[in-house]
Amino acid sequence: TGTLADVDPEIAAVLDGELARQRDTLEMIASENFVPNAVLQAQGSVLTNKYAEGYPGKRYYGGCEQVDIAENLAIARARTLFGAEHVNVQPHSGAQANAAVLHALATAGDRILGLELAHGGHLTHGMKINFSGRLYDVGSYGVDPQTYRIEMDEVRTKALQHRPEVIIAGWSAYPRHLDFAAFREIADEVGAKLWVDMAHFAGLVAAGLHPSPVPHADVVSSTVHKTIGGPRSGFILAKEQWGKKIDSAVFPGQQGGPLMHVVAAKAVAFKVAASESFKDRQERTLRGAQIIAARLSEPDVAAAGASVLTGGTDVHLVLVDLRSSALDGQQAEDLLHDAGITVNRNAVPFDPRPPRVTSGLRIGTPALATRGFGDAEFTEVADIIAVALRDGAAADVEALRARVRTLTESYPLYPGLQQY
Ligand code: PLP
Repeated sequence: TGTLADVDPEIAAVLDGELARQRDTLEMIASENFVPNAVLQAQGSVLTNKYAEGYPGKRYYGGCEQVDIAENLAIARARTLFGAEHVNVQPHSGAQANAAVLHALATAGDRILGLELAHGGHLTHGMKINFSGRLYDVGSYGVDPQTYRIEMDEVRTKALQHRPEVIIAGWSAYPRHLDFAAFREIADEVGAKLWVDMAHFAGLVAAGLHPSPVPHADVVSSTVHKTIGGPRSGFILAKEQWGKKIDSAVFPGQQGGPLMHVVAAKAVAFKVAASESFKDRQERTLRGAQIIAARLSEPDVAAAGASVLTGGTDVHLVLVDLRSSALDGQQAEDLLHDAGITVNRNAVPFDPRPPRVTSGLRIGTPALATRGFGDAEFTEVADIIAVALRDGAAADVEALRARVRTLTESYPLYPGLQQY
């Protein structure tokens, strides 16, 4: 019956400390966001107690009448939001959604083709020591060494060489749209299924600000916690013909009991994602990324050897190339951290440095757009980052930290949220 602070003061202190950290810094990790209070409430609820193996109306446990309502709402909302034929909202995470997709579309030993990890692909798209690399025969396409874009001729060539059963379109670090219709054509030409992993850009798709993969792909997987800004988890959309296979690949193929508190929170997130304010937030997300890309392309930053991969962005993130800079990815990440801005270092394609160091930064705008930032605030953030990258080791970190503090204080995060 005790509160968290009574039962476990050490963990209560972690929650306090993390809330303070989120409030006092600028969160620019491209895969992160701030969930609304309504999502925190749904997730921190008694639904966490419930076992519900199976699907609504077809459970292997009694007492599922309330959680069935939640799951049906999540399914119906996702179906409407994305115009999907079939929806599964049970994957615990993006990686588990992806494991289920491959489980449904392929058999161990089959050939799959995805974007090279070092060029912005995801671990679950065929990395050697991931399940995807262990179970499947992986081929990869990369970005063009001149344009840094995915060129469809290269995808086609690799597809004809590798003859995959599944082609994967999707990324963790790539700043441009993908040509889903061209992926579809190539998949048809080689007799492959097309799977799109929209984990990063799903919120933009929901808002109608990014081409939708749904009409083109056999299956689309996603997370809920990146641009959508919902609970940390995954979901899968599929053409009707794959529906049964996807459901049985998630449960019992990959998972046991679904996390019903998280499923309820997904329903809340999908409801929010259908609102006008969500669309406005995604618009600010996109414009923020464009403002940052433009500022980091100016001559003072270029003179310090930093540049923007592909020269700009169509999405919620900017990739900074530091191969010619005095700063490596780790140093740049640390410098911005000291200034109060959280980003992650990221390998750039053809990166000469090891993955633990890298020569790049991935800078994302979703969390700050959720915090309320618009053009003026993103212009200020862009300049803080530009000055840090320009001045490097000589940067006046205290002055940058003070500018960050002005922004964090002007946009309070979770105002009124109780400490634990
Ligand atoms: N797919 C893509 C494209 C991702 O970027 C990520 C997360 O980084 C995932 C899947 C995995 O999501 P999770 O971390 O929830 O397993």
